[in-house]
Amino acid sequence: MSIQDNNRFQAIISHAKEYGFVFQSSEIYDGLSAVYDYGPYGSELKKNIRDYWWKSMTQMHDNIVGIDAAIFMHPTTWKASGHVDNFSDPMIDNKDSKKRYRVDHLIEAHADKLKEKGAEGEGQAAALLDAMDQLLAKEDFAGLKQLIDDNKIVCSVSETCNWTDIRQFNLMFSTEIGSVADDASTIYLRPETAQGIFVNFLNVQKTARMKIPFGIAQTGKAFRNEIVARQFIFRMREFEQMEMQFFIRPGTQKEWYEYWKETRLKWHLSLGIPAEKYRYHDHVKLAHYADAALDIEYEFPIGFKEVEGIHSRTDYDLGRHQQFSNKKLTYFDTEINQHYVPYVIETSIGLDRMFLLVLSHAYDEEDLTKEGGPKDSRVVLRIPPAIAPIKLAVLPLTKKDGLPEIARQIMDDCRPHFRCFYEEKDAIGRRYRRQDAIGTPFCITVDHQTKDDGTVTIRHRDSMLQERIHITEIRNKLAHEIN
Ligand code: ATP
Repeated sequence: MSIQDNNRFQAIISHAKEYGFVFQSSEIYDGLSAVYDYGPYGSELKKNIRDYWWKSMTQMHDNIVGIDAAIFMHPTTWKASGHVDNFSDPMIDNKDSKKRYRVDHLIEAHADKLKEKGAEGEGQAAALLDAMDQLLAKEDFAGLKQLIDDNKIVCSVSETCNWTDIRQFNLMFSTEIGSVADDASTIYLRPETAQGIFVNFLNVQKTARMKIPFGIAQTGKAFRNEIVARQFIFRMREFEQMEMQFFIRPGTQKEWYEYWKETRLKWHLSLGIPAEKYRYHDHVKLAHYADAALDIEYEFPIGFKEVEGIHSRTDYDLGRHQQFSNKKLTYFDTEINQHYVPYVIETSIGLDRMFLLVLSHAYDEEDLTKEGGPKDSRVVLRIPPAIAPIKLAVLPLTKKDGLPEIARQIMDDCRPHFRCFYEEKDAIGRRYRRQDAIGTPFCITVDHQTKDDGTVTIRHRDSMLQERIHITEIRNKLAHEIN
């Protein structure tokens, strides 16, 4: 990451805090690592992104319905899904600093350092990563440890090579359910929302009378005890997912995989975020349940990173739940007169990561200095209007002469339709800048002329252009611009 990008990332983090988007959890107790709270504008933005996704999935598709499953699930769910046995990362601890690393991250960081040494280093890094991939694929932990020792890879804190053996570390959080300690049994906080959909497959199919192909969408919290968690809301221990499982006839998975790959990218682009900031990344090493998988990656200030996964999950999940529950999870396809366990294409996006994407796209430090004039600049969040926390600020130019009364009337007229904000304090220029900083796309200013002819000034956030419109036009104009 270049210094410039790092600075930009840090600036976004500071801005998010200063303007009430994201706070460190339990900050007064020095915070809880990789857990965050959303403030007044952050919670609005997050809700708007969630709604935008939910609407595009359910309202805009006849054949997708939603559910809202519980976070706690029967513990066997996670045995069936493979999470108890497979949802783990190989970890290694440095004995001197006690710092724990994900093995692949430790080796990759060393490879990055090698690459900085020019052509020879690049070759060494490539060989190292190649060796790592092969050993990881074979789960050869002794070999990986040897690789770390041979390359004299040191801990960034203690700067020693004094390493423990490599162990698997499960990422699921567990807790106990039950009123008396004796009766209690271990349950997990769900590490993904998908399983709530799979176990409800037949409930939904029957009650909503769905015919294959059809989808079930869900948004909700997921929990992972992530080890490397120091990239703000990019990787959190408690986060929110927006997932959709699309149930299909076996054999049609390739075409539906292509369909959802394109459809999901279009959703991202529909927000007006430039296509060159996105790319697909096909998985070479597939998860135990997948026959094809890719990530949609976005160029964050910390580089191209996954924001969404598209996975062709075959009949793995339903098949496993059928096996573990002894309940039939088949579908009768009347078109071909056959019973089968459906195949599944999954689209899975992190709401918090999408939030970070929106902030990364929106954050702009704009130089407004005019030739020969004093230095001037503004920070503006160019959030797509459809998801902006506040759509309209209503600002009377002064606190007197009846202007606040007119502004209040505009508020009353507009607030049932979109989120508005009223403010009469400070000079108008400062009020505009504050709205720029939280990404409000439109400001209406009520001035003395309003009293004469019923017109107001509407100011556009991105261009800073101002035009006069009649009060009666405000609602329609906003509705048009926001949609
Ligand atoms: P990564 O490789 O970044 O750990 P993953 O491949 O494990 O992610 P999935 O299990 O496919 O992620 O989860 C789907 C989506 O959920 C991801 O694309 C991401 O947007 C989001 N997500 C996963 N883990 C986290 C996390 N710890 N914090 C925030 N979002 C997450």
